[in-house]
Amino acid sequence: MSDASNAPPALLEVRDVSKAFGAVAVLRSVSLEVTRGEVVTVIGPSGSGKTTLLRCVNFLESYDSGSIRIDGREVGYRDAATRQRRSERDLASMRAETGMVFQGFNLFPHLTAAGNIMLGLTKVRGKSAAEARSIAEHWLGRVGLAHKADSLPAELSGGQQQRVGIARAVAMEPKILLLDEITSALDPELVGEVLAVVRSLAEDGMTMLMVTHEMAFARDASSRIVFMADGGVSAVGPPKEILAAETTNERLRSFLARFR
Ligand code: ADP
Repeated sequence: MSDASNAPPALLEVRDVSKAFGAVAVLRSVSLEVTRGEVVTVIGPSGSGKTTLLRCVNFLESYDSGSIRIDGREVGYRDAATRQRRSERDLASMRAETGMVFQGFNLFPHLTAAGNIMLGLTKVRGKSAAEARSIAEHWLGRVGLAHKADSLPAELSGGQQQRVGIARAVAMEPKILLLDEITSALDPELVGEVLAVVRSLAEDGMTMLMVTHEMAFARDASSRIVFMADGGVSAVGPPKEILAAETTNERLRSFLARFR
């Protein structure tokens, strides 16, 4: 009869993850869960460990202790030896479970929009070129860029490049999408089109863990918000609760004051 037994199992479970760079503790026993269909937003001051957390979930970074599971399967790696035991192909296929979109657009400059999306589909997912092209066209349509399939990144605006980046990540059918400050490098007038794409994916039930400084968006789009400070989770709860002006959490209050 306990609540825990009735709760849906977490799609992503981060349990007591700690990490130091040399003597600097960057993550201090971080725990969080994202259930299927949830959009969880991580906010917090610069240097609080948000990006490092996402990089640990996507195996771009190792951690020192704790565990990270997706659908019950341990996915992160704690040390270089574990990493070496996994082939590059294994790592690539595990990474594909967690699509990641970065602040910089990270598109391959010599490949078209469709080519960028097709690459992982053919190399990692083993799709034929024809299948990959048709999936790429589907997702480009979904982000409003059907007419840009054959454009190179340099021929696209920043907002369009970021929409291709999102299409590239979701085309791999990840179980969870990780978004790391994906609008921070954009001119303000281009932020809305990218957030609209994220919102429509959320409405379709895509599970997401995102880091953003767009507080209005976090308030509207998140199921829950995690506030990080100094490498730890300082507060977690529904947006209304976390973003409330009258919060008693001093650090959260002073962080939020910057956005008012
Ligand atoms: P946030 O995303 O919240 O701004 P980060 O995860 O980028 O925070 O960084 C957390 C801390 O870890 C910062 O103090 C940063 O300087 C440090 N850090 C991040 N990456 C490295 C690295 N590769 N080597 C050493 N220190 C790092």
